[in-house]
Amino acid sequence: MNTETISQKNGHHLNGFSAEDIGDDHLFTSLDTPMKPNAFEMSNDEKKQRISILFSEIMDVLGLDLTDDSLQGTPDRVAKMYVEEIFSGLDPENKPKIALFDNKYQYNQMLVEKNITFYSNCEHHFVPIIGKAHIAYKSSGKVIGLSKLNRIVQYYAKRPQVQERLTNQIANELKTVLDTEDVAVIIDAKHLCVSSRGVKDDTSATVTTYYGGEFNTPAKIAELQNYLNN
Ligand SMILES: [Zn+2]
Repeated sequence: MNTETISQKNGHHLNGFSAEDIGDDHLFTSLDTPMKPNAFEMSNDEKKQRISILFSEIMDVLGLDLTDDSLQGTPDRVAKMYVEEIFSGLDPENKPKIALFDNKYQYNQMLVEKNITFYSNCEHHFVPIIGKAHIAYKSSGKVIGLSKLNRIVQYYAKRPQVQERLTNQIANELKTVLDTEDVAVIIDAKHLCVSSRGVKDDTSATVTTYYGGEFNTPAKIAELQNYLNN
């Protein structure tokens, strides 16, 4: 199939890259997850029903016998998993509600929460991205419960993603919630679309960073790296 035809049909001309280039080089077009304006017109139950039907078609086209006991329930399971679990972060209803506390202890150094494990999925191949997020912020007078940092990461991870966007979406959310520019997000992840297919590189990992406000100085970056290495 001519991938250029597809991208031209959709009206995308990304600096001459074909749809295939975009997928394999993991280029992306926007810092916001590209969503349709009517993304939430369908109820979750309707979405699960539709996905189940469509996924059984994929399995059928691949030649799988859907009457087999082991495969029979797969379309329903995949539909439920997509809507309720691994892509639940597409729905703003699922965004974690964040409560802030006064910074009673007047702790105004950086706070680092490291090794937050997350599972996401590559938006170009729909296979897993597995990684760790490290977050740092300096309080502007308010502090956030530590489990909330984790929840923010999980919310944005549960979307079809590219790592750069995931990094920025987490950073933007932290800046808004904490009302400060002084946030840092570092993500170290493995993309199964790189390790299990395509170039089949099993050892490489991708690191993306966001250093905002006071964190965007060589001294602070070095200090942060020092915490992460210990
Ligand atoms: Zn991919």
